[in-house]
Amino acid sequence: MAKLKVKGSAETIEVKNVFCIGKNYADHISEVKIEGIDNSIPKEPVVFLKPSTAVEAINNTVSIPKIDSKPISQNLQNEVELVIVIGKDGDEIPEDKALEHVYGYAVGIDFTLRDLQTEMKKQGKPWAVAKGFRTSSPIGGVVPARNIGNAQALDIRLSINGELKQSGNTSQMLFSIKFIIRYLSSIFGLRKGDIIFTGTPAGITQLKAGDKVSAEIQDIGKLEVTIG
Ligand code: MG
Repeated sequence: MAKLKVKGSAETIEVKNVFCIGKNYADHISEVKIEGIDNSIPKEPVVFLKPSTAVEAINNTVSIPKIDSKPISQNLQNEVELVIVIGKDGDEIPEDKALEHVYGYAVGIDFTLRDLQTEMKKQGKPWAVAKGFRTSSPIGGVVPARNIGNAQALDIRLSINGELKQSGNTSQMLFSIKFIIRYLSSIFGLRKGDIIFTGTPAGITQLKAGDKVSAEIQDIGKLEVTIG
């Protein structure tokens, strides 16, 4: 079972369901436009799920899966995201109670096999293979919500080999943290240990073996991984 560390404590959190919100920053929607499909800003959140093995860290290294020694993708890309960690079960949670269900927040990276995802989008197929592979979603230490001011106003950035590639603020989310919690809890229910990736600002980049990826969110800290 995948476990998350809580910063400054011996406590760990067992990960249950991994929810992800796609297309939640306007500048990222613009950079992934694909000819022939609908690239508009979504009216409802774009939701996908990952298996909990996606968040299992393996020596802080992220690798493209291989089958018969052959990588299944030629284009691994970064997506830095604020991760919400649910601390209390809830169904149909109203927005004014949403934050009561948040244990804390963490820095996460939603690594994506972009060539596969683009093909799946064109063909109307699910994204699971492009998004949910093992090591695709490393998560840094969880910071309890009480230690963070307003999670909806945090600078979020990502560098590759020291070069800044993504820079935004969580205030730019199209669907807010409270809205996402109400939405997901109304459809799926949310349980203690569920985590939610909340989308990425622009700056996705094709990665290569040996790249050092450093993701950071204000008040939360850093997450550093190497591409294998
Ligand atoms: Mg993402």
